[in-house]
Amino acid sequence: MAKLPKDSHRVEDVAYAEYLFEKFYVIGSISTGGVTRLGYSDAETEMHKMFKSIGEKEGFRYEEDEVGNSFICNSDSDSYYLIGSHLDSVVDGGRYDGVAGIIAGLIVLKWVKDNKLDIPIKVGAFRCEESSNFGKCTVGSGLVTNALNKHDVAETVSKDGRTMEEIFKENGYSLYPERISGVKQYLELHIEQGKILEEYGERLGIATTIAGPKRFLLHLIGEAEHSGATPMDMRHDALCGAAELISEIESIGRDEAIWKSVATVGTVELKPNALNVIPGSVTLGVDIRGINQDSLNRMENRIKDSGKKIAKKRGLKFYRDKISEMSPVVLSRNMQETLSHIAKDMKISHRIMISGAGHDAMSFAEICDTALIFIPCDKGISHNKNEFATIESICDGAILIYEYLHEVSK
Ligand SMILES: [Zn+2]
Repeated sequence: MAKLPKDSHRVEDVAYAEYLFEKFYVIGSISTGGVTRLGYSDAETEMHKMFKSIGEKEGFRYEEDEVGNSFICNSDSDSYYLIGSHLDSVVDGGRYDGVAGIIAGLIVLKWVKDNKLDIPIKVGAFRCEESSNFGKCTVGSGLVTNALNKHDVAETVSKDGRTMEEIFKENGYSLYPERISGVKQYLELHIEQGKILEEYGERLGIATTIAGPKRFLLHLIGEAEHSGATPMDMRHDALCGAAELISEIESIGRDEAIWKSVATVGTVELKPNALNVIPGSVTLGVDIRGINQDSLNRMENRIKDSGKKIAKKRGLKFYRDKISEMSPVVLSRNMQETLSHIAKDMKISHRIMISGAGHDAMSFAEICDTALIFIPCDKGISHNKNEFATIESICDGAILIYEYLHEVSK
């Protein structure tokens, strides 16, 4: 049985990957040089049509499920390996986030066909992975694995003002899809979206756990007063309290870094936001993530206590809203070990690591053995038009997946 030459970037494979990348390239392009392919928008639908036409040209079967996810399949088998990712992007995003995983899946499918292997595979493109359009992430994969249900998404509103329910009705999709069945194992290749692989000069990453995000809005309420007429000792400046809290949140994140946790204040909303008025109220958007539930809980409690303490000291009111909370997701240990063993065998340098960002793999980890493979991306830049990964890296990941499937389906 013909196997691929190990640890090589054959000219024809790189050319095929480039051809696939080019096929998707212009869809959703905008004048900045980036792409906008929001979940359940026309641009995303166009990406799925392109995916369909690529698959059918190779002689594969195409399927669409009840929520608009697309699949290219090499068999009718009831039981198959699923290689998945997404084709949507953020606003003014890059061309590798999601697409790299779809390209890797299509390359693997082609190799399996060329080498006449009998491995049932579906390459799945899941709708609306990014939260940019509806404020909800992993919608397509979440709905079909039942990790999400109608109540989580029906009322969410797109950037152009339509509810998910309306869009689903228009397209004939269902908010009560049947749970996806027959998935033996799920594999996803994704750009790392961080700098670790680049920093350590490693070609691939194999994820152990996907960090669980908790998100809050922290509100500090003071008194908006005249900045000239109010003496320094009579003020209740909400922004000064917020400044103290922001640096406290940074040090809480640093304290918990030993558990690979992170804490970020990503947004500041200030009222009235006028040069000659003492800030009356501030809302901070906080995102904490980690793979250790105790550490996450500790961070949450410390942030809450700090907010109360700082508010009390400064005569401010403090309250908080929890916007979302997801538990860390543990991926298949068996798959990690086999993938790592194969990578070692192929002399592809790799690293066992965590995923700080969420992916469709989170939805599947609940229903089947799941693996997530990272490829380096330039300077860790992602969700940005300057996002870049090499075609050779995509081929590295594809070779690992191919060899893995070859190994486990023997
Ligand atoms: Zn992604």
